[in-house]
Amino acid sequence: MLGARGRPSLPGSPIRQRHRRRVAATPPLTATPSPHACQPPQVNPGKLVSSTSPTADFDLLSQQGSELPVAVLWHTEISSILDSLKLVCLSFCGSCAWWHLLFMEPKNELSNSNREIQGSATSSKTTKDLEIEGYTVGGLSIGGHETCVIFPTLKVAFDIGRCPPRAVSQNFLLISHAHMDHIGGLPMYVATRGLYRMQPPTIIVPISVKEDVERLFEIHRKMDQSELKHKLIGLDVGEECYLRKDLKVKAFRTYHVIPSQGYILYSVKQKLKPEHIGLSGNEIKNLKSSGVEITYTLTEPEIAFTGDTMSDFIVDENNTDVLRARILVLECTFVNNSITVDHARDYGHTHLSEIISYAERLQNRAILLIHFSARYTVEEIQQAVSALPPSLAGRTFALTEGF
Ligand SMILES: [Zn+2]
Ligand SMILES: [Zn+2]
Repeated sequence: MLGARGRPSLPGSPIRQRHRRRVAATPPLTATPSPHACQPPQVNPGKLVSSTSPTADFDLLSQQGSELPVAVLWHTEISSILDSLKLVCLSFCGSCAWWHLLFMEPKNELSNSNREIQGSATSSKTTKDLEIEGYTVGGLSIGGHETCVIFPTLKVAFDIGRCPPRAVSQNFLLISHAHMDHIGGLPMYVATRGLYRMQPPTIIVPISVKEDVERLFEIHRKMDQSELKHKLIGLDVGEECYLRKDLKVKAFRTYHVIPSQGYILYSVKQKLKPEHIGLSGNEIKNLKSSGVEITYTLTEPEIAFTGDTMSDFIVDENNTDVLRARILVLECTFVNNSITVDHARDYGHTHLSEIISYAERLQNRAILLIHFSARYTVEEIQQAVSALPPSLAGRTFALTEGF
């Protein structure tokens, strides 16, 4: 997205205008021209942070160790786009005499003061994340409207009906099928990451739609004249790929009215072989240096996401890992007797009564129900979940964000 004269245009032009007025009144912003000024400065977020209130519009700081003056921006609109845990700053470029909106990803080694600011920003959020089995889960899901389920600690989003702001900061996007309420936000997701100079995302789609998705991006590139950088991977059922060395994804079969698949995220850990447990550090070191393989790889299903499907995936004998994943994110479009199971199946969806009848097969420690029909109120959904039998009660949650 480029504005006049090819310069980056920021979303929400009033922000830019307000900022430019502020720039004109602030003497230190006559930055030294630098040949590298158009590059995001190498900033350690720990150095940059001040005690800026999240409610303040702008605070201008001198950036230590850089020729560039930097403005730290805590504007609720922008920060919500990038995720509340992002630092956003404006940097004046001496070469092109323009302000660049930059972002910096929070790092694990952030200073305490940085964490305090993050905490303040988090508390200003309006979305209600869930904490399930050690994972934070966000996003929203309304059948036929939009679904995007986010695991921010893994940087993974499943499906992207409309591209909610927080999806933009997820590096990996896994798409279950091409219904618009699950894929409609894909170009916007890629474009917005490009706008903020974030790394090109990795997007996984069913292999059957990969070529069409490529064509979709070609058309958008032609119309938009932007690069829309991303890495697109087509996965078939049963295929897997590594997102990181300790995290891999595998596609599994689901049963919908168009080609579809779910995904299992596996944690991958190196563990000491049982026969070596109890040995001293030196003994282990000696074994290792003598060429003995002392570890084995432990792969465990952590999260399974179904996307839209009939309940048939539960009895698919190839889907045992889905049923033993720590968390199962499970489509449940219909929750009470106002809609029959036959009706749910006609549209390729799952009815809560089917989940109840299959409860014993679901070994998952937690089940997150999503994709409720828009015909329901939050109260109706909660009522249905609170009436679940003991086999599901206490481990079943409902994603009602957006209703
Ligand atoms: Zn759907
Ligand atoms: Zn669908």
